[in-house]
Amino acid sequence: MKELEERIRRDGIVEDGDVLKVDSFLNHQMDVELFRAMGREWARLFAGERINKILTIEASGIGIACVAALEFGVPVVFAKKSRTRNITGDVYHVQVPSFTHGGVSDVIVSKRFLLPTDRLLLIDDFLANGAALEGLTDLAEQAGATVVGAGIAVEKAFQPGGERVRAKGVRVESLARIKSMASGQIEFC
Ligand code: 5GP
Repeated sequence: MKELEERIRRDGIVEDGDVLKVDSFLNHQMDVELFRAMGREWARLFAGERINKILTIEASGIGIACVAALEFGVPVVFAKKSRTRNITGDVYHVQVPSFTHGGVSDVIVSKRFLLPTDRLLLIDDFLANGAALEGLTDLAEQAGATVVGAGIAVEKAFQPGGERVRAKGVRVESLARIKSMASGQIEFC
């Protein structure tokens, strides 16, 4: 999506070689007009797929997912990073290694909010090694829900996540795909 690529070129900052900082418009300060354009693009790409719910992961996916949900006219469920080790039986649970912080998060969704009849669109801000998206796919599988596809804002295509998740048969629609960020120069696919 041209608009997102241009914004990344203008305001994105490459850190440590493989981390892209986009906190001025995507995941700290949020440009909701841009989110709306992103939501419209996913709605166009997934038209006719009878998506009835969006599933995202705390925290950066939530804002993007909520604006996209307005375009789809569906609710958003966000998978929560649990702060308690005492995980009860009324939740689906998965462990997700964090790309940005290191370590592993316990991620949960209440069984009340993911149903076998659900046709889910997964949404996240970044796709790097694929752990976050695989975690969401796992939660959907536990519920017996159908994953229609994944809408990703920024895919770092030089990292293995996109290939891994697509190899499992998940349709991934990334609105900006970065081929390389070597020496701070961002190149799109
Ligand atoms: P993965 O699980 O695919 O390795 O990484 C995806 C998650 O890590 C996303 O939810 C996102 O929050 C974070 N992430 C991965 N790469 C980047 C990056 O380059 N910049 C930022 N800001 N977050 C990233």
